[in-house]
Amino acid sequence: MRYSAGRLLWEGLRDQRGWTQTWRSPALKRNYRFVIIGGGGHGLAAAYYLAKVHGIRDVAVIERGWIGGGNTGRNTTVIRSNYLLPESAALYEFSLKLYENLSRDLNYNIMFSQRGIVTLAHTPHDMDNVVRWANAMQLNGIDSEIMSREQVAQMIPALDMSSTARLPVIGGFVQRRAGTARHDAVAWGYARAASSLGVDIVQNCEVKGFLRDDHGRVVGVSTDQGEVKASSVLLNTAGSTSLLAQKVGITLPLQSFTLQAMVSEPIKPVLDTVVLSPATGMYVSQSDKGELVIGGGLDHYVSYAQRGTLPAQTATLTALAEHFPAFRRLRILRQWAGIVDVSPDSSPILGETGVPSLLVNCGWGTGGFKGIPVGGWMMAHHLATGAAHRIAAPFGLSRFESGALIDEAGASGIAH
Ligand SMILES: Cc1cc2nc3c(=O)[nH]c(=O)nc-3n(C[C@H](O)[C@H](O)[C@H](O)COP(=O)(O)OP(=O)(O)OC[C@H]3O[C@@H](n4cnc5c(N)ncnc54)[C@H](O)[C@@H]3O)c2cc1C
Repeated sequence: MRYSAGRLLWEGLRDQRGWTQTWRSPALKRNYRFVIIGGGGHGLAAAYYLAKVHGIRDVAVIERGWIGGGNTGRNTTVIRSNYLLPESAALYEFSLKLYENLSRDLNYNIMFSQRGIVTLAHTPHDMDNVVRWANAMQLNGIDSEIMSREQVAQMIPALDMSSTARLPVIGGFVQRRAGTARHDAVAWGYARAASSLGVDIVQNCEVKGFLRDDHGRVVGVSTDQGEVKASSVLLNTAGSTSLLAQKVGITLPLQSFTLQAMVSEPIKPVLDTVVLSPATGMYVSQSDKGELVIGGGLDHYVSYAQRGTLPAQTATLTALAEHFPAFRRLRILRQWAGIVDVSPDSSPILGETGVPSLLVNCGWGTGGFKGIPVGGWMMAHHLATGAAHRIAAPFGLSRFESGALIDEAGASGIAH
């Protein structure tokens, strides 16, 4: 069924009786060409691009809970491509361009709102970094504008601009094409489009281990619904990736941390961009419902607990209250957390695992929502052609042996 304004009107006129299920719920088959473990945005996008771009439909996405129930449905939805290094710039800009046409491509409104992201500078040193960073983006062909203190004040009237603030704002830069999208819709849109092309999405099915042949090649997975054979398997399980990798006898360079977020009670429109203070890691935007969507840094120790600690929450809210005094008396409506997979250079790991026929897409850490389209595209390319896409090639595991790290935080001098 195609979604359109005409269809909305038609269904409204006949009491909404014509809507069909958004994606199929098939039984798990015993054999597929490709099995993708993890029904987050990345796994679903890989399945969609396999079917759409490469014509490969004999694919299963196996999800232990519900699709989008991992980090894809828990994030603060910021999408941007404001990276310093050429490798990351190419990766995230590819993703942003796919996002710009995603609602149309999937025939599903992901509510992508290109409201921009403003990165604040608090010291002359920050400002030097910001100028270098924004110039690097322009050299990579990506939009960016350096902002004076006055321009920041004009764009974000609620921001405290007093020079006596603990973290005074002296300028910043904006990427206007950045923005936010509805995270569930990204998962649902990919699921619906992949399912309509023939991909099987199997929820409430946990992968427990891997099937190997005599040469060590992965030839399928064992699940709580039985064994499934496949010619290749893609591991796409974010914070749980290292646990599954252990089952196949490899240790990936990943650490799992808790990352939390919050929303305030809804208020009238007051903030029409995303604001990031790199000094504290606090960032905030306002949702279409009026809630402030508030994020910050990682909780400080490794953990698989999918809930945040009070100190990290307090630090984020303290920073918010310092920058936006008018928000001090708002109540927090909800708080939640996800388990993010952080690699040593905080960049994703895409490609071969060293175990034949087992690929991995992981290491997106705190920033993989914006990478969903590109992560899916790159892994579909790798599965279909047997080789890494040119944009994904620098993000292989081998960089941790060669030393060719893609360390954005280190290079920009500002934490991402
Ligand atoms: C609080 C928070 C805020 C964030 N904010 C942003 C942001 O603003 N912008 C941004 O770009 N990124 C952000 N991120 C990061 C982003 O959410 C993730 O990088 C991204 O969603 C990862 O997508 P994924 O598909 O790889 O993983 P997930 O969405 O986590 O999907 C992995 C899936 O694997 C499933 N799974 C695990 N083990 C098994 C198993 N054994 N068998 C079957 N299935 C299994 C899980 O149930 C899960 O559904 C944030 C993350 C958090 C937690």
